[in-house]
Amino acid sequence: MNPQTISPAAAPASSARAGSASRAYLNLIGGRWVPAKSGKTTENKNPARPDDLIGTFPDSGLDDVNDAVRAAQAAFASWRLVPAPRRAEVILRAAEILRERKEELARAMTREMGKVLAETRGDVQEAIDMAYYIGAEGRRLFGVTVPSELPNKFAMSIRQPLGVCGLITPWNFPMAIPSWKIFPALVSGNTVVIKPATDTPASAHHLVEILAEAGAPEGVVNIVHGGGNAVGVPLTTHPDVKMISFTGSSEVGKAIAERCGPTLKRVSLELGGKNAQIVMEDADLDLALEGALWGAFGTTGQRCTATSRLIVARPVHDEMVRRLAERASQLRLGDGLEPESEVGPVINTGARDRIHSYVQIGQKEGAKLVAGGSAADEGSLGQGAFYRPTIFDGVTPTMTIAREEIFGPVLSVLTVDSLEEAIRVLNDTPYGLSSSIYTRDVNRAMRAVRDIEAGITYVNGPTIGAEVQLPFGGVKETGNGHREGGPTVIDAFTEWKSVYIDYSGKLQKAQIDR
Ligand code: NAD
Repeated sequence: MNPQTISPAAAPASSARAGSASRAYLNLIGGRWVPAKSGKTTENKNPARPDDLIGTFPDSGLDDVNDAVRAAQAAFASWRLVPAPRRAEVILRAAEILRERKEELARAMTREMGKVLAETRGDVQEAIDMAYYIGAEGRRLFGVTVPSELPNKFAMSIRQPLGVCGLITPWNFPMAIPSWKIFPALVSGNTVVIKPATDTPASAHHLVEILAEAGAPEGVVNIVHGGGNAVGVPLTTHPDVKMISFTGSSEVGKAIAERCGPTLKRVSLELGGKNAQIVMEDADLDLALEGALWGAFGTTGQRCTATSRLIVARPVHDEMVRRLAERASQLRLGDGLEPESEVGPVINTGARDRIHSYVQIGQKEGAKLVAGGSAADEGSLGQGAFYRPTIFDGVTPTMTIAREEIFGPVLSVLTVDSLEEAIRVLNDTPYGLSSSIYTRDVNRAMRAVRDIEAGITYVNGPTIGAEVQLPFGGVKETGNGHREGGPTVIDAFTEWKSVYIDYSGKLQKAQIDR
């Protein structure tokens, strides 16, 4: 492939648009839409209405991964030589297509994932935002130019692509998270093989189709559908994959890091959270209440940044809990495609049952249930995986529900007597992703910003709501130090090369010739 003439991958195999009836999806490998080598497929269904079949997806394995990596490796030879602003043009074209098809893509996402339409529009919007942000990076990809200590010598550093990047994504932001990985990888000159979550393969698939339509050359973007063991494991161990970018649970993230060790792959991990919102007695309580409701029950509590703990100053505890319980009980559950629905289903019935087992543990350990606490099965809700917004009061820091990630609509309220205690309680978890404090006192706010152990802190805002132009990620068991999002995402997807150019015409010795 000549870098000056970018030849696009084949158009999508099926002309069916996202969100239409059931469809047979394929892998994209080396520009061709192909089934799994084994011929096996899996079905993907709507979590609000399990009789609604979204489509069948290839149930891929080692052979498919090997083919995809080979195709990505072959494409890398020329894609790395395409000037970065030209690479960015593909992403900017994708942004335009995403904008045109936003509503249709959002509807398809609600159908496969359950979250309400306003939120799936937000998910597609995040991909659009990322495309514009990273598209502009094509004309930056900043390096550093510094003076040399020697005369007639030039010193600078440039960014170079890594090669084939393996991208493994979860189901809760089915288009936004793939976009946070694919776009920066491509603009940096890498080629990619993505394995999306088996619960939400269609949204990542639609994004890949759009990139093909936008002119991504054959082999530059490959998608291989299938399970964690069958596709994820061979991707992480493949010697020609130079980097793994993974978003998902801490448990799987740790296993991936171990598996990447023997080949010394770069591995960027965005993992779990146990995020908390602090409410001090001087806070605007109306605002804190809205923030807690949105943070805890938005996306049915299935965000890595979801508010899972509410740490409340004793003087405002009773009022906060009473009002929260009242409002949580009034939230309307339903199919995310229905305009009146405020809370959609959880991702599947297995997740619903796991959430309920945490609720039972909370009750057994002595926490007081003040809202929800059961699956919702009245009327048409009975068909789907619905769980009532749930609030526990009287939670102590050692209880299981205060420590483990539940990943569902469950909020634990803990009571404290000072800012110091609030921060101590907030930090007392293995995770460190997002955090928030509601206070009108700037001194308290700034102390919280300084002392909270988390990758993200909001002041007078909920724990959810990250924007693409700032680093995203966390400390402790939430990650391994990389930050995807913001300018730092380019560090995750590039290697530095330092370049010295001596135009003195003689041998000059650094540190010796002075
Ligand atoms: P998960 O860890 O179960 O799966 C994530 C992805 O990894 C899926 O594609 C899955 O098929 C794959 N996978 C599973 N086992 C694998 C293995 N052994 N090797 C390679 N790949 C494997 O997570 P999930 O249930 O899809 O998502 C929920 C989790 O993701 C929560 O813990 C949540 O906090 C986390 N999350 C984190 C962020 C973040 O940015 N920090 C964002 C969203 C979600």
